[in-house]
Amino acid sequence: MSGELTVSPPLIDECEVVPRTLCGPGPSDYWPSVVEALTRPVLTFSTDEYFKVVDDIRNCLKYVFQTQSDLVLAMSGAGHTGMEAVICNLLGPGETLLIAGRGIWDDRACEMAKRYGIKTVVTKVPPHTTFVEQDLEPMLRRIRPAALFITHGDSSTGTIQDLSWVGKLCQKYGALLLVDTVVSIGGAPFLMDAWAVDAVYTSSQKALSGPAGISPIAFSKLAERKIQTRKHDPPFYFDIKMLSKQWNCYGDTRFYHHTMSPPLMWALRASLMELCKETLPASWARHRRVMLHFHKRLSEMPVQFYVPDPMHRLPTITTISLPEGYDAVKFAKYMANELKVVIMAGLGPTAPGGRVLRVGLMGANACEEVADRVVQAMADTLSAMRRSKL
Ligand code: PMP
Repeated sequence: MSGELTVSPPLIDECEVVPRTLCGPGPSDYWPSVVEALTRPVLTFSTDEYFKVVDDIRNCLKYVFQTQSDLVLAMSGAGHTGMEAVICNLLGPGETLLIAGRGIWDDRACEMAKRYGIKTVVTKVPPHTTFVEQDLEPMLRRIRPAALFITHGDSSTGTIQDLSWVGKLCQKYGALLLVDTVVSIGGAPFLMDAWAVDAVYTSSQKALSGPAGISPIAFSKLAERKIQTRKHDPPFYFDIKMLSKQWNCYGDTRFYHHTMSPPLMWALRASLMELCKETLPASWARHRRVMLHFHKRLSEMPVQFYVPDPMHRLPTITTISLPEGYDAVKFAKYMANELKVVIMAGLGPTAPGGRVLRVGLMGANACEEVADRVVQAMADTLSAMRRSKL
């Protein structure tokens, strides 16, 4: 073969991975069944097994989102893919998206919408709280947006939004309701149809305890109608009209859009099966029980809850303020390196000041034993940092 190579192959050393317990805001540790699923045989489009896995995932997702809708599938990509897909499929240039902001994810949604020429209006509440009807109704009445974007569980603030009234309010003003459930699905009650949610996405690496890279998404009948009649074309890769055919949402198409990742399909199926086997009420109750246990133990330590009202606290992720003089980034680094427990420092509104930690007890890690391990590691880190004035 002719042609001189100008780049040599790199020398790559072994990459040892130290086992750690993953208790940040994600990713979480896998279920053992997910580990096994990741090495199952390659699935290839057009075989019966591929189509069975597609159908199994969709059937589980209908249960997990609690929807009778047909337009339910999983996007190739992490949670941001779902965020971008709900926005660009449902709103076109010149339409208005009202964004209920209290953390970093609403900022991301705003940034994405702007890139599509969508008009954005942001309304905010303090990051340690959530929205009530009086915060949103005047905005919906005045702006009459095409849609409202809101985050159910906010991993940057550790808050959970009561959504039971939001869908009805949106319907009153003709707005679609778009919801981020990346860190809440499986860990806290979510009822898509009963709460009149029009578009929802989640992620596989949080309370589902699977690998990142495949993101469930669902649309209501109303949203589906908008997608069918819209005037704009979203990017090809995000086009739900085409993806609905790939995912056989209407039972009559086995269309090729792009190559799905077989390990991620197997893994998502396995993590959804874990949740279906446990059942939603049992999983919600387990996450709540473990959160209460963790919070009780935290209340015996010299730390404070970032979210003062227990009603606003997200069951899957707790935000904690360290005492004066401690640095959250150094604290988390010490825990990960010395004690092999991963938690994370604040993000978005909880980053300034450098004293907020975020602890996730989700999916396979939502158990008292792991919560106790985190408490012990935090107590040891507090003493070590006090001693060394880190
Ligand atoms: N929304 C929320 C609430 C999240 O916690 C995250 C990830 N931490 C995202 C969206 C984005 O997900 P991903 O990193 O998988 O793209």
